[in-house]
Amino acid sequence: MTNYDIIVVGGGPIGSTYAYKMAKLGYDVALFDMKNRIGQPLQCAGIVSTNIKDTKNLPEEFISNKVKGANLLSPNGTSITVEKDDNSAYVLDRVLYDKYLFNRAVDAGATAFYGERVLDVDMDNTRITTTNGKYSSNIIAVACGPNSATSKKMNPNFKEESYTGIQYTLKTEPSDTEYVDVRVNTSILPGFIWKIPVSPTEQRLGLFTNGSHKQANQILTNMMDSGSTIIQKHYGLIPRFNVNKKIVENNTILLGDSANQIKPTTGGGLVTGFNCTTIAAKNSNKMLEEDNNNYLKQYETEYHKKYDSEFKAQQNVQKIIKSMDEDDFNYMFKELKDNNVDKIISEYGDMDNQVPLLKQLVKTGVIFKLLPKIGVRRLKNIWKSL
Ligand SMILES: Cc1cc2nc3c(=O)[nH]c(=O)nc-3n(C[C@H](O)[C@H](O)[C@H](O)COP(=O)(O)OP(=O)(O)OC[C@H]3O[C@@H](n4cnc5c(N)ncnc54)[C@H](O)[C@@H]3O)c2cc1C
Repeated sequence: MTNYDIIVVGGGPIGSTYAYKMAKLGYDVALFDMKNRIGQPLQCAGIVSTNIKDTKNLPEEFISNKVKGANLLSPNGTSITVEKDDNSAYVLDRVLYDKYLFNRAVDAGATAFYGERVLDVDMDNTRITTTNGKYSSNIIAVACGPNSATSKKMNPNFKEESYTGIQYTLKTEPSDTEYVDVRVNTSILPGFIWKIPVSPTEQRLGLFTNGSHKQANQILTNMMDSGSTIIQKHYGLIPRFNVNKKIVENNTILLGDSANQIKPTTGGGLVTGFNCTTIAAKNSNKMLEEDNNNYLKQYETEYHKKYDSEFKAQQNVQKIIKSMDEDDFNYMFKELKDNNVDKIISEYGDMDNQVPLLKQLVKTGVIFKLLPKIGVRRLKNIWKSL
């Protein structure tokens, strides 16, 4: 049986990034992906905040478009625009980007196993069985996306919850590329509809929901501008964060979507996942240097320390959003406009760190005007979670 220092299951963006970091440290890394064509099919809107620059993980060539801000739209069409002086987000070519991240790991020395599905992860003996053979290692990192069998094994009594993400790539008439549209639709709460310009003649129109595919397709078809045609349809799961999910057992860790390291409100997993690879690589290195697997538990602890309060606050916001009806949203958008809240959102809004904005809305008392039907007690609960 071939032995490695590290086995990585899944060569998506998060598994490939962790593999790259460990290979760069000089470890013998094996990177497995069941696909022959990394990154395909596209299952992502590919929008990330400019915070991604801090992860030092994104060469300019994979940015298809830079957006200034977002038009937020209520059910009755009231629109507010939030924006930054500079760009606020990048739209990525996810297919080429995933390939680049995988190849970067290989260039750093990781051994690539394409088209080789991992059938079983033996967490007691730190071994895997694939469609082609058996391999062992000192650490196994499972980053095989949502629906991981290892995650289920590690969390036998855990009820995994996820949303379905559905997206159309559209060919459009020439149109604006500076703003993303984010639209409320009360039949898919706490999901929402996005329209993301990739280029003047290409858009990604999508939503996430726990409703049916049929309903989602109906909504998206209605949202298409006249003159647009569908180039491709994509479906994928967006796992829900759960603070109680275990992500380490013996020498096996979960990473990325397999660990539900996803922002609850937006379903974005790239920046969070990249940050988690940094925590995981640091502690994996210490474990191998000192032959002490308590460092993998330390990965779990540091991840929770970094994200729990942000994600819990986002989940509290989602609970409130879920309880609102069309009238509530239409009223809220009118108040947002009348009270110049777009300015506060533009200043404090951050796709990755939403707590500063929530704090500001509570501190200024604006939130009570926006959500008069939401009881003071529930708003206090949000406040406590900030
Ligand atoms: C519709 C949609 C839109 C999204 N939009 C955004 C967005 O705009 N911004 C953002 O930040 N995030 C977005 N996300 C989330 C983002 O795509 C994920 O968080 C991200 O892809 C997670 O990366 P990952 O490497 O953990 O998993 P994945 O990207 O799922 O990669 C997992 C890899 O593991 C491989 N694999 C699976 N099982 C096995 C196995 N048994 N053996 C070997 N290989 C295996 C797969 O082939 C795949 O290559 C979106 C998700 C969806 C569904």
